[in-house]
Amino acid sequence: MKDKIIMLVLLLIFLSLIGRLFYDKANEEATAGIIGKVEYVSLDELALFVTLENEVQLNKQGMVWMDGSSIWDHDITASITVESGYVSDGDLSREPDYVHHYPNLYAKSEADYKSPTDGRKVCFLTFDDGPSANTLKVLDVLDEKKIKATFFVIGEEINKENANILKEVVKRGHLIGVHTHVHDYNKIYKSVDSFLKDYDKAFQKIEEVTGVRPYIYRFPGGSYNHYLKRIRKELVAEMTRRGFTYYDWNVSGEDSVGSPTAYSIKKNISRDLNRYRCPVVLLHDGQTNPLTAKVLGGVIDYIESKGYEFDTLDHREPCQFRW
Ligand SMILES: [Zn+2]
Repeated sequence: MKDKIIMLVLLLIFLSLIGRLFYDKANEEATAGIIGKVEYVSLDELALFVTLENEVQLNKQGMVWMDGSSIWDHDITASITVESGYVSDGDLSREPDYVHHYPNLYAKSEADYKSPTDGRKVCFLTFDDGPSANTLKVLDVLDEKKIKATFFVIGEEINKENANILKEVVKRGHLIGVHTHVHDYNKIYKSVDSFLKDYDKAFQKIEEVTGVRPYIYRFPGGSYNHYLKRIRKELVAEMTRRGFTYYDWNVSGEDSVGSPTAYSIKKNISRDLNRYRCPVVLLHDGQTNPLTAKVLGGVIDYIESKGYEFDTLDHREPCQFRW
């Protein structure tokens, strides 16, 4: 009798453990679909609501923090993965309209966005405001020195002639990022949607001409500028949700400010370069920057003499201003 009771107790303990296991498993599946107070049965439903960062503003919109999620976005027939983000509590009336606009404006990248960890000094040359006739001159110097760089492109500058130059940038193995379509601060930074609208134009144009879908971008004026400030957090969150990563710089040649000279460009670069193991150097290849290509050979020689190699930004962690 006593043995039977012990057996029964053991059986009950065993059954409750099994039950608990199934309960936990079921609960795990359910919680994967519960955000805030709303249950979502599939990741498809969740995908529309995910956006990154922007704690204060998005929380005001009723969004809550979610750690690590892999998301299938049915709007774009592409898989996007986010490290972490905010998810709405499901109240569609609070969802900004722009998340439904520009359905082709999504990026997917193979880049791991990590800086070299073996102690190498690597310099990342970047050129903004092209393409222009000056871009070709820059490309020739880069070829001569056998190095690769990154170009942040203005959509509006891609006319018939410059389209071939942009193709040349890709053909010669450099990395392309989006800068802007019109480069007019008052227009592009008016709202999140106006930025996306402008960006989408440049993005589509670049893809149309080169077949490349850029996944990195650079804000006109950098991410720390007065025009952008009001919408910055929300905009970065939306751009990140769409798969884009932005890069500022930590060394500037100041080659598009005032009246630069060969001396001033070199001096500006040499002043800050050595402070970084992986400097990101801002230069310009726009039509109003003819001097840059002329001094570039000397600038590269100087940087090399300080022990740096060169690479494109997809081999560096994002360089972003603090704000
Ligand atoms: Zn610019």
